[in-house]
Amino acid sequence: MRVALSHVTVTFRSGRVTALRDVSAEIAAGTHVSVTGRSGSGKSTLLNLLGGLLRADQGSVIVGDTDLTKASGRRRSRHRADNVGFVFQSSHMVRGPVEANVLLGARYRRMDRARARDRARELIARVGLANRIGDHPDELSGGERQRIAIARALMGHPRLILADEPTGNLDPSTAAEITELLEEVARDEAATLLVVTHDPALADRAPLRWHLDEGRLVAPVQA
Ligand code: ADP
Ligand code: MG
Repeated sequence: MRVALSHVTVTFRSGRVTALRDVSAEIAAGTHVSVTGRSGSGKSTLLNLLGGLLRADQGSVIVGDTDLTKASGRRRSRHRADNVGFVFQSSHMVRGPVEANVLLGARYRRMDRARARDRARELIARVGLANRIGDHPDELSGGERQRIAIARALMGHPRLILADEPTGNLDPSTAAEITELLEEVARDEAATLLVVTHDPALADRAPLRWHLDEGRLVAPVQA
């Protein structure tokens, strides 16, 4: 899904902290974008804005055909459930097998149980965990838990995948594997993918690279 930001500013603490400053940029549907920047530069704020968790103070944020700056809280929740899959650095896992953890991605979505189970099984195979389906998260490696998180994020067929430092806890080769998996699934689902990373080599894999410096988007680099 297409994303268009125009002169977006986001502040916190009644305007005392500016997390994003006058950000304008576009992403064509289906593009993979990497987002880099120092800690505190606004990366998570940017993802949360696109996911409808935050609202801009100024400017417009258009995702698909929804203007999130004008949308009600309810409309933004709908956007999140219908369009967005989030992957974080570490995801909450419940005590239960892989399948139960992937099924958490069906919450807040209108999916009947049978369809949700079919989708979960398909995704577990897709992320390479078919032979671990009955295992519990504490029996899995960090990389395998991120595979669960990716499968969970895909449950609702998101058209926008927002990954906030998904490889922050992984060794370099596992980080590369997980980044490749995100790219593959995003391509297969024709989803737009934003991945926040601190690793320049992983960032450089993306055809579109955004870098934030104290809330400003410094010239997007198009490969
Ligand atoms: P990054 O993800 O790049 O580390 P963030 O987007 O989390 O950066 O934060 C950008 C700035 O906004 C920081 O100065 C941070 O302290 C501030 N900030 C982020 N979220 C909040 C919040 N909920 N309340 C107050 N300040 C916040
Ligand atoms: Mg962050």
